[in-house]
Amino acid sequence: MRLLVLAGDGIGPEITAATLSVLRAASDRFALGLEFAEDVVGHESLRRFGTTVRPEVLEAARSADGLILGPTATFDFKDEARGEINPSKFFRKAFDLYANIRPARTYPGLPGRVGDFDLVVVRENSEGFYADRNMAAGSGEMLVTPDVAISLRRITRLCCARIAWTAFALARDRRKHVTIVHKANVLRLGDGMFIEECRKAAREFPEVATDDVLVDAMMAHLVRAPGRFDVIVTTNMFGDILSDLTAELSGSLGLGGSLNAGADYAMAQAAHGSAPDIAGRNLANPFSLVLSAMLLLAWHGRRSGQAAFGAASAAIGSAVEAAIGARETTRDVGGNLGTRETGAALASRLLKD
Ligand code: NAD
Repeated sequence: MRLLVLAGDGIGPEITAATLSVLRAASDRFALGLEFAEDVVGHESLRRFGTTVRPEVLEAARSADGLILGPTATFDFKDEARGEINPSKFFRKAFDLYANIRPARTYPGLPGRVGDFDLVVVRENSEGFYADRNMAAGSGEMLVTPDVAISLRRITRLCCARIAWTAFALARDRRKHVTIVHKANVLRLGDGMFIEECRKAAREFPEVATDDVLVDAMMAHLVRAPGRFDVIVTTNMFGDILSDLTAELSGSLGLGGSLNAGADYAMAQAAHGSAPDIAGRNLANPFSLVLSAMLLLAWHGRRSGQAAFGAASAAIGSAVEAAIGARETTRDVGGNLGTRETGAALASRLLKD
């Protein structure tokens, strides 16, 4: 498996280096033959090449079997005409990575904030309120007068159907329950269509139970009793917000793994941002990107039929769980190690177990 690795901004280089040390250990133990090519996106690319993403990087991504993208300072990139392209949006759009899979769970030894849970947020990743990707040309946001802004939300039947199918297929292999999260009392047409397509998918998976919850109420339900949820399917913006909550409830935003998957390609990308407040200080939790890479290995194993990738992915998950239990972690989840040391400890645990 050849992977393109783009470390990104802020804490990106630190957590990416730690993730690569874990992946090298997994590759050694399971004879995966992982190969890494590294390049730059974000601020470093803007400084060196006048653009945050070069066409050569897209070509390199195309010829790789998958992509690891560190967090990027997306808020800084406002003007595409000046080369300030949001790399995250760029790759999601270029490869039509329509499904954002964001698992969140509690861990033994890490006191949960709200009780134990193990769930997955399945977030539509290609349209919705995301103005920079929901139009073929132009932007989904416009300024009518200096004091009037309009933000458009695009919902299409195809995108609803494919994310719904992804969620139900995932639930079939888990605890067989899908919760549809929406705001159809206000967004009657768009979220009405989303629910309709989810209910259609539900008919294809009769063994999976389905319910639906309004997004505002969902915030309360998640904080009150997250253990009652298995797979949560929702539109783009709601999923982005909900999944930061579920990651934090599991112990830290630094535990939020995230896979962006399409029909033919997948990208591992931590759920959090570039965390400039702790960048360069060896403080960032690398587990979010490690868990994202874990999801990418499993995805590749399923597609290529190579069981070793599934086994490596499961071993990384178990090693993270054991490391958290043993407090071999960064401070945000109760340990006292730095980013580098956390990655090294996880890598040697993987080789030993
Ligand atoms: P953030 O997610 O970077 O940070 C929020 C808080 O969580 C901060 O206190 C940070 O220190 C902490 N945190 C984040 N990751 C952590 C980790 N691995 N370990 C320990 N603590 C961690 O959100 P922000 O500060 O609002 O955004 C910073 C930049 O990141 C902005 O430019 C934003 O647009 C961008 N961003 C990028 C992505 C992405 O690349 N997918 C996602 C969200 C935000």
